[in-house]
Amino acid sequence: MDQAILDVVASSAYVMGPKVKEMETAFAEYVGVKHCIGCASGTDALLLALKAWNVKAGDAVFVPSFTFFASAEVVAIQGATPVFVDVDPDTFNMDVRDLIYKIEHVVKAGQLKPKAIIAVDLFGLPADFKLIKEVAKRYGLYLLEDAAQGFGGRIGDKEAGTFGDIAATSFFPAKPVGCYGDGGAVFTNNDEWAALMDSYHIHGKGSDRYDNVRIGLNSRLDSIQAAILLVKLKAFKEYELVDVNKVAERYTEKLQGVVKTPEVPKGFYSSWAQYTIQVANKEVRSKLQEALKAEDIPTAIYYPIPMHRQTAFSYLDPKMNQCPVSDYLADRVLALPIHPYLTEEDQDLICETIIANL
Ligand SMILES: *Cc1c(COP(=O)(O)O)cnc(C)c1O
Repeated sequence: MDQAILDVVASSAYVMGPKVKEMETAFAEYVGVKHCIGCASGTDALLLALKAWNVKAGDAVFVPSFTFFASAEVVAIQGATPVFVDVDPDTFNMDVRDLIYKIEHVVKAGQLKPKAIIAVDLFGLPADFKLIKEVAKRYGLYLLEDAAQGFGGRIGDKEAGTFGDIAATSFFPAKPVGCYGDGGAVFTNNDEWAALMDSYHIHGKGSDRYDNVRIGLNSRLDSIQAAILLVKLKAFKEYELVDVNKVAERYTEKLQGVVKTPEVPKGFYSSWAQYTIQVANKEVRSKLQEALKAEDIPTAIYYPIPMHRQTAFSYLDPKMNQCPVSDYLADRVLALPIHPYLTEEDQDLICETIIANL
């Protein structure tokens, strides 16, 4: 890792150096898509996809309410309207029945044009893409896979990053494959969208960077981050993804029946960006979090405020955006420490502390 970083420093090719192309080729090959374009963050990756599709004011984009803010923020940045969809309490992912309900609602109201679905692979588990794809097709909507947490997840033998018309991922340090700062990428098999996103991520470049044919962003992936990602991908492929799955399995073995453990549907494989348990209520959760903290065990709440309750989205119609399961989960979820290097001793202490404090 140190050598990879120093090599870029010595080369002086800090911006769009050869490591960026190398990273894009390696990541496209891993995911199994034609195009990967590195960019500055997962948020920008989502934004680039919406720009390629010209998502704009008057468009409705369907987004789960139980997610990180960026999934919905990008919709509003484009001037479009997010419509929040509830999630499944077992998988934390988009509830397809509520998706259909919300689309029908928007169609009937006749104010907005349904344009796209952003389905999130929350906590590392791919969303229910078989059904979501059918819905997208039926209503003529673009499908964007928010794989910011999903990289490495699978349905059958298909990788996360292949399930949408475009997929976006993040390399923020806490994600399944993290770099040493901010970074992201988009994935697609579509040549036209790939060319548009390539242009948008460098100031709307045309034939070169001083020929600007559209309004874009400065959203390049740093060469140093690309070099780091190439080393990280190797470890991820060789053992990290397998090891983090072993940690998750061990949690489930020890905690099943004690708390509600996360479910992975048959045929699905998670990359475990988070291992999220559910407890009886907010009070139980606070007490448990305190007890774990007393043992120096960090925990986190992803997410305490669902999107339909965020102040920034208070301008939206509350009637159109009800998501009771997201409300329920916000009060009960707790994410435990998880990474490929968690020792069995540490994990035993975490589980014992949970069992002793419920
Ligand atoms: C982290 C994350 C993003 C944003 O990625 P950044 O690289 O932090 O901009 C988007 N969506 C989800 C679901 C995320 O977890």
